[in-house]
Amino acid sequence: MLKLTPILLAVLYALAMYRFSVWRTTKELDAKSTELADATLKKLTDRMAKALDLPRIKVHIYEIDPVNGLAAPDGRIFITRGFYQKYRDGAVTAEEISSVIAHELGHVALGHSRRRMIDFSGQNAMRVALGAFLSRILPGIGIYIANMLTTLLAARLSRQDEYEADEYASALLAKAGIGTAAQKSLFEKLEALTASHGGTAPAWLMSHPKTKERIRAIEALEAKWGVAP
Ligand SMILES: [Zn+2]
Repeated sequence: MLKLTPILLAVLYALAMYRFSVWRTTKELDAKSTELADATLKKLTDRMAKALDLPRIKVHIYEIDPVNGLAAPDGRIFITRGFYQKYRDGAVTAEEISSVIAHELGHVALGHSRRRMIDFSGQNAMRVALGAFLSRILPGIGIYIANMLTTLLAARLSRQDEYEADEYASALLAKAGIGTAAQKSLFEKLEALTASHGGTAPAWLMSHPKTKERIRAIEALEAKWGVAP
């Protein structure tokens, strides 16, 4: 029993972290968001809703500046004020914003947004438990190895999620008649934005795999499905 105690504690810790993270995220988003009301964008989200056999797709504006899109654990889709402003300024098209909405819808439909929160809490617990274990075998460096292993695992999992969400978005955009071109042109625009900002990438790119690889993956899907971008 004594041997199992650290593992039990780690599991309890992970559960508590998960509950807390969901609560905190929901509260933050509730306080700082409004429903998106944009006639042009609505025409496009209505086309996606029709393709999905849904009455409508609700999108919210999250009142922060960094250019980002996100899917909350409760399934709500958010576009940041900063991203929406880029669209209002004409730097990003309605189709490109739709591609972000489609990508985030993919995270929700595929269960990523809930799992990511669980993963995040689980990773912390794993870091602690693995760290305690490895420190006993490798005093001094055990904790670093535990950190490295946990980070590697997390990066692998999130990369997989991103490609899956991109694939979902490609299929949805193709079916809705919006096309996959906007998905790829947005990646390029965000990358250009990175270059002009002295190398700091927009938040949405930073948490995602390399642009070139994502574009290649979408082109492979276009070829496989025989759809025109
Ligand atoms: Zn994503």
